[in-house]
Amino acid sequence: MNSECIFCKIIAKQVPSTIIDETDDLLVIKDIYPKASIHYLIIPKKHISNVRDFSKDDRAMAGDMILMAQKLSQEIPDPKAFRLIMNNGPEAGQCVFHAHMHFLAGHRLPGF
Ligand code: AMP
Ligand code: ZN
Repeated sequence: MNSECIFCKIIAKQVPSTIIDETDDLLVIKDIYPKASIHYLIIPKKHISNVRDFSKDDRAMAGDMILMAQKLSQEIPDPKAFRLIMNNGPEAGQCVFHAHMHFLAGHRLPGF
């Protein structure tokens, strides 16, 4: 746990969020500023800044993120259409420096 990190606080339930799913290793929440009608964040419970800091020890967790995305896709109206995005580094649009995968589906919201 990084006490400065908003996602660590959400994982510790010190900050409220809308939880979609949870496993021993992952938390899935609704993005607070959705860019599509379905916009979830798949967040490893372990604090890792981004993909650049993943190690071989994180292989199972990284695979579980993909399988979680697959599971989420099976719970939306059109399971055939969804996007997965991981922003790595501020120049790539990363704002929260705790690794996470965006799960986007449905229609794009106005303004994005
Ligand atoms: P990124 O730009 O890839 O780092 O994405 C960070 C995402 O986290 C953005 O889409 C934000 O809307 C979202 N976000 C930031 N704070 C919260 C929060 N407290 N609860 C849910 N989502 C958040
Ligand atoms: Zn964190």
